[in-house]
Amino acid sequence: MGETELKVKLLRYTPDPEGVVAVAARLCYSADDIETVTGKMKEENKAKFINKLLDMGHLSPIEHVSFTFGIEGVSRSLLAQITRHRIASFSVKSQRYVSEMADVDEGFSYVIPPRIKKLGLEYVQEFEAQMKQIQKWYNYWCEVLQEEGKGALEDARFVLPNAAETKIVMTMNARELYHFFRLRCCNRAQWEIRELAWEMLKLVKKVAPAIFVSSGPDCVSGSCSEGEMSCGRIKEVRARYKELNA
Ligand SMILES: Cc1cc2nc3c(=O)[nH]c(=O)nc-3n(C[C@H](O)[C@H](O)[C@H](O)COP(=O)(O)OP(=O)(O)OC[C@H]3O[C@@H](n4cnc5c(N)ncnc54)[C@H](O)[C@@H]3O)c2cc1C
Repeated sequence: MGETELKVKLLRYTPDPEGVVAVAARLCYSADDIETVTGKMKEENKAKFINKLLDMGHLSPIEHVSFTFGIEGVSRSLLAQITRHRIASFSVKSQRYVSEMADVDEGFSYVIPPRIKKLGLEYVQEFEAQMKQIQKWYNYWCEVLQEEGKGALEDARFVLPNAAETKIVMTMNARELYHFFRLRCCNRAQWEIRELAWEMLKLVKKVAPAIFVSSGPDCVSGSCSEGEMSCGRIKEVRARYKELNA
């Protein structure tokens, strides 16, 4: 309980993702039946077909493969942002069914923004004291509302902060992941979802390097699309991306 940190795991993904995408890609340009296309597909050709596909911007074949992530140690603030991505499936720890009622010193888990941590211990302690105060308010409403009957948690949670930790199981197909990484690995995205996106990108690159070969913010494979809003730190972003590929 107390402060928590980002944890993300790749729980499951479509078996042989590159094989599936390569067969789908090959099929589009072949007179053969599916069994023949599958049989003819050589390991060394998979990356070649996928590359060709990505170069042409023919992206529907990469929708055939999905990736499921277990995400913990993130805030409800991140939840509000990530669930804006509509081509995805989400299961989220419920604040209606899971009670956060606890002793004030062992209260709900929360995320402390790095910007606050940078200010020093005094400010972190102030933040922690505020979380404890919120825990008191939450406990108070749980007790009062429980006397009124069922459903206390769904209303007591109204006093919980954006900092409160949540846990998410999320599935996206590779095309949506491309889109997600483009927006959320970008320095314009908020720090928390950005850190999550980079961790996810690292995980999928390990299991499907050919599919995610050029996936990331625009500036790693071309120019920045943010115009006046550009972070101006393209070199830094490219260096981080290079490290990821190493
Ligand atoms: C830096 C940044 C700042 C942001 N600031 C704000 C903000 O201030 N306020 C705010 O409300 N949101 C904000 N957002 C969220 C943003 O507006 C999107 O809701 C979010 O990024 C999801 O992206 P999306 O809609 O492109 O993609 P997804 O929902 O992931 O969908 C993927 C793609 O599918 C297509 N698609 C999906 N649904 C439809 C549909 N119904 N009709 C047509 N095409 C569809 C679109 O091409 C879309 O790009 C911000 C996002 C970022 C990255």
